[in-house]
Amino acid sequence: MTTLRAEPGADDVRAAPTPTGHLAHNYHPLPVRLVSGEGAWVRDATGTAYLDLLAGYSALNFGHRHPALVAAAHAQLDRLTLTSRAFDHDLLDVFADRLAGLLAPLLPADLVLPMNTGAEAVETAVKAARKWGYDVKGVPDGRATIVVASGNFHGRTTTIVSFSSDDDARRGFGPYTPGFRVVPYGDADALAAAVDEATVAVLLEPVQGEAGVIVPPAGYLAAARAVCDRARALLVLDEIQSGLGRTGTTLACELAGVRPDLVTLGKALGGGIVPVSAVVGRGDVLGVLTPGTHGSTFGGNPLACAVGLAVIDLLETGEPQAMARELGAHLHARLAAMVDDGLLLGTRGVGLWAGVDVDPAWGTGRDLSEALLARRVLVKDTHGSTVRIAPPLTISRGDLDQGLDALGDALR
Ligand SMILES: *Cc1c(COP(=O)(O)O)cnc(C)c1O
Repeated sequence: MTTLRAEPGADDVRAAPTPTGHLAHNYHPLPVRLVSGEGAWVRDATGTAYLDLLAGYSALNFGHRHPALVAAAHAQLDRLTLTSRAFDHDLLDVFADRLAGLLAPLLPADLVLPMNTGAEAVETAVKAARKWGYDVKGVPDGRATIVVASGNFHGRTTTIVSFSSDDDARRGFGPYTPGFRVVPYGDADALAAAVDEATVAVLLEPVQGEAGVIVPPAGYLAAARAVCDRARALLVLDEIQSGLGRTGTTLACELAGVRPDLVTLGKALGGGIVPVSAVVGRGDVLGVLTPGTHGSTFGGNPLACAVGLAVIDLLETGEPQAMARELGAHLHARLAAMVDDGLLLGTRGVGLWAGVDVDPAWGTGRDLSEALLARRVLVKDTHGSTVRIAPPLTISRGDLDQGLDALGDALR
């Protein structure tokens, strides 16, 4: 990897070539156009190497083109790629059983329902919770509520943006799906007050990713668990970004010692190769979804299962989680030193995952992302003044230090 080292301080970053004009404008990417990647490094067409400290919003927890994941995908491409769920295939039960086995110590992982994107997994959890509420809990038809937290990010569908507190994500997309109550994130009392007998679920991110890596106060998830138990509501944790190693544990909820009823997984489950998501949890909840009530043409396809199984193999070694703990301690120590030196307003996070607040006197999060791009380091701003740092869990300590040196240099 040494041949791919970036040169901190270089300033001849080329703007991406002019787009053809047909691409919709629903993103504002940094001006870099990538053509290849390996591990924590990516290259543009000129051969310039960049250190990737975003890792596809944690879809690339195992880095770009991890050899074991690519090998699994290649082998499956030569066997069978899609059957639809009209027919069974030889990896589907195996994938469900292995994923349930990985998570069995952490929650009642009775059933696994595979989907593709994260938003679909959240939609699946919402549908299952509502139907469970009517069929099992006995909530009067049409009355189910789900309590969610402000600052949430659960995806982009019309139902999901209905309970977003981000005006850009929500405005203009109504009429909105009713049945959601939004309470401040991290406030256990507000959560308790919002839950009543018609509440079928509380849906939370154990750590809010898009909001800027917001770790809730100690005891918050345990309090949510207790509220759900009292009201006979489901605790649904969205681990799409926080799960699968990022926090130094297989799931973020492990850190709080809390067992959810359902979890949504996505992003890293597809190994950075194919979209793979799933809802995992209680049999009496996911069991309410019977043939014809829910599904997906691509959900649980052979290629997705092959890659997902290879991801589970990696996580079962415990190595990615250990790397996140070890490198995460180093990351947070170095970021805290930058706060002490007055380079950053604040920093927070857990595992190999941090949100840093840029001093507005220095510039915006976007300015910092661009200053780092000029130093061949890729990060992305969120919500104005925050920059998220989430390197692949496979990054070397030397490469991580190189990225953090560039951060310090950019801020100076
Ligand atoms: C990214 C994300 C989603 C949505 O996933 P998509 O694959 O983009 O639909 C949902 N929840 C959380 C917590 C996420 O980070």
